[in-house]
Amino acid sequence: MLTDAHSRTVAELLKALDVTSEAGLDEAEVARRYAQHGPNRLEEKQARSAWAILLAQFKSPVVILLLIAAATAAAFGQVVESIAIAAALLINAVIGFVTEFKAMRSMEALSKMGRTTAAVIRGGARTEIDAAELVPGDIVILEEGNVVPADLRLVDVGVLHCNESALTGESVPVSKSSNALDDDDPPLAERANMAFSSTAVTRGEAIGVVVATGTATEIGKISEMVSAAEDQGTPLERRLEHLGQRLIYLVIAVGIVVAVSGIIAGKELFLMVETAIILAIAAVPEGLPIVATVALGRGMWRMARRNALVKELSAVETLGATTVIFTDKTGTLTENRMTLHQVALPAGNIDVVRTRGLGEFQDNSEPVDVERRHDLQAMLRAGVLCTNAALGEGEPGNEQMGSRGDPTEVALLEAAAWAGMRRRDLIEALPEEREESFGSETKMMATYHRTDDGAYLVAVKGAPESVLRHCTHVRGHDGGDQTLSDDARQEWLQRNRDMAARGLRVLAMAERTVNDAGAEPYRDLALLGLVGLYDPPRESVKGAIAACRGAGIRVVMVTGDQPETAANIAHAIGIVDEKQPSVLRGRDLGDLDAADEQARERIWKTSIFARVSPEQKLNLVSLYQDEGEIVGMTGDGVNDAPALKKADIGIAMGKRGTEVARETSDVVLQDDAFETIVMAIEQGRAIFSNIRKFVVFLLSGNLGQIIAVSAAALMNAPLPLLPLQILFLNLLLDVFPALAIGVSKSESEVMTHAPRDPREPLLTRNSWLTIGGFGTLIAASMLAAFAYALLVLGVDEATAVTISFLTYGFARLWHVFNMRARDSGLFTNNLVRNPYVWGAIAVCGVLLLSAVYIPFLSSLLHTVEIGPKEWAVVLIGSLTPLIVGQIGVTIAGLRRRSAA
Ligand code: ATP
Repeated sequence: MLTDAHSRTVAELLKALDVTSEAGLDEAEVARRYAQHGPNRLEEKQARSAWAILLAQFKSPVVILLLIAAATAAAFGQVVESIAIAAALLINAVIGFVTEFKAMRSMEALSKMGRTTAAVIRGGARTEIDAAELVPGDIVILEEGNVVPADLRLVDVGVLHCNESALTGESVPVSKSSNALDDDDPPLAERANMAFSSTAVTRGEAIGVVVATGTATEIGKISEMVSAAEDQGTPLERRLEHLGQRLIYLVIAVGIVVAVSGIIAGKELFLMVETAIILAIAAVPEGLPIVATVALGRGMWRMARRNALVKELSAVETLGATTVIFTDKTGTLTENRMTLHQVALPAGNIDVVRTRGLGEFQDNSEPVDVERRHDLQAMLRAGVLCTNAALGEGEPGNEQMGSRGDPTEVALLEAAAWAGMRRRDLIEALPEEREESFGSETKMMATYHRTDDGAYLVAVKGAPESVLRHCTHVRGHDGGDQTLSDDARQEWLQRNRDMAARGLRVLAMAERTVNDAGAEPYRDLALLGLVGLYDPPRESVKGAIAACRGAGIRVVMVTGDQPETAANIAHAIGIVDEKQPSVLRGRDLGDLDAADEQARERIWKTSIFARVSPEQKLNLVSLYQDEGEIVGMTGDGVNDAPALKKADIGIAMGKRGTEVARETSDVVLQDDAFETIVMAIEQGRAIFSNIRKFVVFLLSGNLGQIIAVSAAALMNAPLPLLPLQILFLNLLLDVFPALAIGVSKSESEVMTHAPRDPREPLLTRNSWLTIGGFGTLIAASMLAAFAYALLVLGVDEATAVTISFLTYGFARLWHVFNMRARDSGLFTNNLVRNPYVWGAIAVCGVLLLSAVYIPFLSSLLHTVEIGPKEWAVVLIGSLTPLIVGQIGVTIAGLRRRSAA
């Protein structure tokens, strides 16, 4: 890393870095430097090695319990038993290892999808590489719209402006050059010959040489300080672990009671000790954290395939609990495809009508002869001059095709093209000398153009209220300027509001002439008129907003545009019902006192915030979070980063957004669409509901086992399940059905209720009741089958135990279907439709049969072959919990529907 790169000359620096700007580095040198400096990434998260994952499998309490059980068996001389337990231990570890390893690899693959690229010169040729592969000495080409991929010393600069607010807090772009600086240690903001990683190129192009990568960059140093916190798993994973730990104590207590009462009743000592230990193992839902990770990870993939890149597992969870979404308007709710609809000139309005693709200017439905309208021409010319966009070379009627730049500006270029005005012709006569970039505070931009007589024409466009404030004149029909009176200014503002109320995005255009290109742009302007652009709402946004309403999620529009435009669009897409809704402006937020109850009430009731600056977005997020809301916030600009970070779910725009916004956010929308946010929330909810379901599924099954075995021990009856059978059932049969539930698709129900309270425990009172109910039911049917076999059929104990073993095993399999949503159909729910569920049932069914019919397994598990009569008992016994359960779920569904 070169700390003094800014004070060296370009030649010196290139020499020090041993590179030329024409050829760049060669591959061998790149490889060497990469090995030395590592990847160019900000947060370098250490990927867990396979060994670490394998080792972690042996750290669980279950393993300790199994070891104790194996040792006990060995101590009692039960060698086969002891080996079987050790084998179970290994199988447990292998299953855990494989699932966790796969989940991790797929998550790594996912994180690679979000990478950015950089244009470099290597081996004498220009190539695009993954920005993470940059090394010091690489020659990087910067272009407008890029995010600087590493810290660069600029080598060759034409015009280059960078927005460095991510680093310096200064939101006005700074101009760059390649000259060496005299000062040895100037502040970052003054290092004009450097381009810093993560800052945005707002204009121009340049070539630079990489002097620092990854955490050695200036932004890297900052982010290292911020994100030093250790990874502790997601809140959900932590809660599951906590639940598992609490269950262990409970179960050890149960084990002791069972062992002691069995021994008192005169049962064999070894059998009772082993039963107690194995019961404890059975009751610990050891697969929980893994299944949760798998469910969350698969959810991430599912979302990624549908254009929502979720960067952290924990965000999946938070998504499901989101209570309010703050969304910007342009491009998220609308298509970001603008066309000019109306022009307001001093002489009156002109409509722009599209006929057969081409736009036609009309005055009162009569075509306008643009050649003779100097006022209209001046206005269109300002739009063509004051721009950073470029129109594509599309056919007439399809001019926007292949365009680049801000859609607002593209629309103005397109309209001018209809009138026969092209930028390349105009700029020849009026070459651009300088630009005053658009700023979100000024809401204006200006360009300076040299005229034939040596003066400069300044073309200005921007938010109407901003531009009008600086206009002293208005350009008349004849081309002469007249003074703009206060009354006239008010009239123009009213014309602006009228256009905005029709949903148009309105800009004012103005001009002035100066003698010096350094003169201030926004003074003594002559107003040319207003342009109204239409950006249609996205087709499917209405449905998505209705879905949010149904799901109890508030949608609040937060836009930089003006109140009238915002209100019109908000009404059109269903954010508000009123045609004239209440709208707050960003600056009102500052005036409102947060401690004032009435003011808070006003903010609370408002669903549209207009003319909001990035800082005010941050205030809004805080205000809502203070009320306990879980806030999702969209953003794209560099200065949206603080609000994105503060929000519970920061949502960046993948297409329109800057790299900075993408890096600080939790979710990146690859299609920039609002619907995708709603899809992600739905998935988040579905995943949480799935995780809750498989916990209920696992615990109710385990509880059934505990109840049955304890009851038999306490009643001094034979045990319905033997220790190794319990081990077999749990280690093999728990995992697959639970995993299948965990990866079920979302069901309609998840978007019909209010968001879950994030403080709500994973298992509610209702879940515990369900666990208790099903546990008792499963225990009762197993014991009934066992008793029937012993007492009515009069079979021997080995046959009876085989019957209860199979009854329990199959009852647990069918029990999967009891986990369906209350309002889903008996045969049309997402479990019946889930192929993984059927796969799990097939695998487990075969395993259960093998336990009886494969001699080696049956002798190990002490099972015997049974006849048709016995099978009938197994079938009836195992189907009972399913039938009773389905009746219960159906009744619950009916009650819910009638309550609704
Ligand atoms: P949203 O938040 O929904 O994206 P927005 O694009 O209107 O809304 P900003 O980008 O903050 O928000 O722009 C604020 C205002 O600045 C705009 O409403 C417009 O009046 C003006 N403006 C935007 N882009 C330009 C531009 N390229 N040139 C001049 N003025 C502009």
